[in-house]
Amino acid sequence: MDIQRIDESPLTSSARTAYRSVRFLYRKVRSISNHLCNLIDRPIIVLLYHRVTDLPSDPEMLAVSPANFHHHMEFLAQKFRIIRFEEDWSGLEKPAVAITFDDGYADNVLEALPILEKVGVPATFFVSTGHIGTKKEFWWHRLEAFLLREGEFPSHFRLDDDNYGQTWDTATLEQRKMLYAVLNMLMQGVSTDRREEWLDQLQTWAEAVDSDKISHRSMTQDEIRRLAASPWATVGAHTVTHSALSALSEEQQKEEIFTSKQALEEMTGKEISTFSYPFGRKEDYNQTSVRLCREAGFVKAASNFPGQIHNWTDPFQLPRHLVRNWDLESFAAKVESFWTR
Ligand SMILES: [Zn+2]
Repeated sequence: MDIQRIDESPLTSSARTAYRSVRFLYRKVRSISNHLCNLIDRPIIVLLYHRVTDLPSDPEMLAVSPANFHHHMEFLAQKFRIIRFEEDWSGLEKPAVAITFDDGYADNVLEALPILEKVGVPATFFVSTGHIGTKKEFWWHRLEAFLLREGEFPSHFRLDDDNYGQTWDTATLEQRKMLYAVLNMLMQGVSTDRREEWLDQLQTWAEAVDSDKISHRSMTQDEIRRLAASPWATVGAHTVTHSALSALSEEQQKEEIFTSKQALEEMTGKEISTFSYPFGRKEDYNQTSVRLCREAGFVKAASNFPGQIHNWTDPFQLPRHLVRNWDLESFAAKVESFWTR
């Protein structure tokens, strides 16, 4: 989910200039600091993919085309030492790159895995278990299906909620795109039950039925087993309902973390030793989440903010670099920047 860019916000031009200067300075200092850290201990970087497929519409920008992904993997295999996310990194020769996937879309096994196997590159797949074997889509695809389509819509949508209740204009697609962006952001920060209640309200309002587009389905149990059986793939956990853990009670967090681990272990017959936090920014999990991951028996956990991994990095908050649908030239330049960004 991309939040509104500062360049498009209603700040005054002098505020924008000041913001850009501060941002530039921050990045410069950070880059110098990272250069120094790399001299002391050569880094590991972890890449984060979500989907490998061609999509006609991808408002979340989660999909990388199979052609681009193939180029990415060949480039990495030629240029870098590729390591596995779950392995013990102490004593490994560095610098090195690890490849991960989040969410558990079917295209991971149908389109990404054959490329990984062909090129001979390992990856770790963090899977949310709630939709395995169903045609139910992740909640952001339901939101997309309710709002981001052409057609006749009511002129307003009123969200009925004690804290977030508000009315939006919805007659045009542009207005519904705005509402989609706002609700997507809000839904990342609320409990699973509340989000489901909001989606039900939207569904009634839009008079839409749940879509069963196979392009957005999660893996089946057979596909999870196929993935786990590949020498180039490892399965990790990513909760049940893909909610931000920080929005949940300790009991709910425990249920999400422990249940997803257990379900995947039963499906694959293998120990699931790694985890990634849904959404993964620092505000999306908390110290309770980190402690519960340790208690569940995971050996490390992945976040979703950029950074390099050194000997001193917290193994339960490992930074990752999000990869978009870049062509080879852009990907090579981005990877170059990841070593110090
Ligand atoms: Zn995710």
